[in-house]
Amino acid sequence: MENEFALGEIPTETKNSGTALHAELLPTEKITREEFAKLVSKKEPTLAVLSVWGSAGGLKVVGEPDHIIWAGGKPLWVVELKTTRGDPQPLWEDQENQVRIYGLLLDRMGFDCSKMRLAVVRLKSGNLGDDEKREWILKVSASLMRGEMSELEVKYRGVMKAHILEHDAERAEIAVRSKAGYWRQEREPTSSTSAGKCRACEYNATCPRSLYKPS
Ligand code: SF4
Repeated sequence: MENEFALGEIPTETKNSGTALHAELLPTEKITREEFAKLVSKKEPTLAVLSVWGSAGGLKVVGEPDHIIWAGGKPLWVVELKTTRGDPQPLWEDQENQVRIYGLLLDRMGFDCSKMRLAVVRLKSGNLGDDEKREWILKVSASLMRGEMSELEVKYRGVMKAHILEHDAERAEIAVRSKAGYWRQEREPTSSTSAGKCRACEYNATCPRSLYKPS
């Protein structure tokens, strides 16, 4: 983040193809506030997203989840889709924090989150056919609603992993507080402790703290 502020965003092929794949897997269309209210208040589960915002950990926080499943005006699932070229099994701390904070913000916005759960779906990109890409988000949503995610994981073994989390406002608040010092300019940024992360990072050639130096 600090390097992005200092040096600007560096486009990479991985990021560009990840963004394109993301758009294919999560096609969306804009709707009005009234249409949104009508859609999410249906009894049967529907998919819709909105920007989420609020105060957390002493900061004002905004964001936009990838995908939310609603029923009866309540969020049931907040889903983040993360594409990777590597192993989808690990769940990185920042990915967990992100979805937890989205859950917290929905809560703070006044939605009834008593039945809400969170999912980070990590997907090895490039392993799905066109039909599968088009149907992907419906497949994931149906599996989450039916509690059959492990069956989907077996079908896509090594390609997809769904990390399921309970909504926990306290943990989300702690996650924001743990990063708040940086945003308030009270401390220096911390660097990655993972050589693999530095290898994949677009700033590794210039970052003085990189654990990997390209030859
Ligand atoms: S090279 Fe490593 S330490 Fe430097 S910004 Fe990238 S991930 Fe962080």
